[in-house]
Amino acid sequence: MKYNFGAGPCILPQEVFKQASEAVVNFNGTGLSILEISHRAPEFESVMDETVALMKEILGVPAGYSVLFLQGGASLQFSMVPANLLGEGQTAAYLDTGAWASKAMKEARLYGNVEVVASSKESNYTFIPKQYDIPSDAAYFHCTSNNTIFGTEIFEFPKSPVPMVCDMSSDICSRKINVEDFGLIYAGAQKNIGPAGVVVVIVKDELLGKSGRKLPSMLDYKIHVDNKSLYNTPPVFSIYTSMLNLRWLKAKGGVEQIEKENIAKAQALYDEIDANPLFKGTCEKEDRSRMNVCFVTVNPEHEKPFLKLAEERGMVGIKGHRSVGGFRASIYNALPITGVYALIDVMREFAQKNG
Ligand SMILES: *Cc1c(COP(=O)(O)O)cnc(C)c1O
Repeated sequence: MKYNFGAGPCILPQEVFKQASEAVVNFNGTGLSILEISHRAPEFESVMDETVALMKEILGVPAGYSVLFLQGGASLQFSMVPANLLGEGQTAAYLDTGAWASKAMKEARLYGNVEVVASSKESNYTFIPKQYDIPSDAAYFHCTSNNTIFGTEIFEFPKSPVPMVCDMSSDICSRKINVEDFGLIYAGAQKNIGPAGVVVVIVKDELLGKSGRKLPSMLDYKIHVDNKSLYNTPPVFSIYTSMLNLRWLKAKGGVEQIEKENIAKAQALYDEIDANPLFKGTCEKEDRSRMNVCFVTVNPEHEKPFLKLAEERGMVGIKGHRSVGGFRASIYNALPITGVYALIDVMREFAQKNG
């Protein structure tokens, strides 16, 4: 038995893997593989329509917003957001909570001014800054809801006087959000939505077409909206598999139900980290992510042997990111709580042998 705690691409439900693999051989009884059907075929159009509809239903996307499935990952959104929303000479406000936020700022600086409203960089991003002002003349305010590498998460979004843009790559669909609070949300699919190869963008239509900048077609949200994400060949298989996963989530009870499970999973693991004398967490308790649980061994010499034992017991992908060290257990939607219990068992076994 393997438990995949990888940060992304991540675990998806077994039934999704099975259904996706069946469609590779024979898609919906068409006698064709999902890999070869035309993206203009009615069969695929209905896949796209259903995926968009599921996304809207699961997150409660109101009228006036478009849902896009694009390529280039969340990383291309770091550029597309300022290219579309930041006019010449304008300023965008950014909250610096980690490596991904920093990368987003780097790209935005190519298009205009970036004002960092707050940063937790000096503490190596162990917390989410809370008290800061968002300038009311900024084109938008950008934040990262979950910091995949450092293991912090925003549980209370600020009241922003300007459109709020959020990179939700690693916690989208893991909890309830109020989409109306945001002007634009983007998320690489490979952490809670589906496989790699597609990024979801949820954008308020009224924000588009205002920057005055001429854009290459592929970078222009408006063109993708007008073409329903079919301006060019979309990543058919990634979208299809995302649809299967969103169906799974809906059948399970949607974000309301998964949020409860995610809280229980995170609570169990953090409780063990706090109770077990051989381990400690790396972030401020109130900001601890429910998706990426970062921790270290109190004694650095325990790091390697613990990793070895965990791997022997079937744990995959728990090595921490090099900028934090230690361990990171990513416990996305599809990781069952039994996986968390299995990891807790290894931590206890290790403490018994080495305590
Ligand atoms: C993984 C991740 C990214 C990068 O996503 P890509 O799809 O690989 O470009 C960006 N932001 C956050 C918060 C992430 O977790």
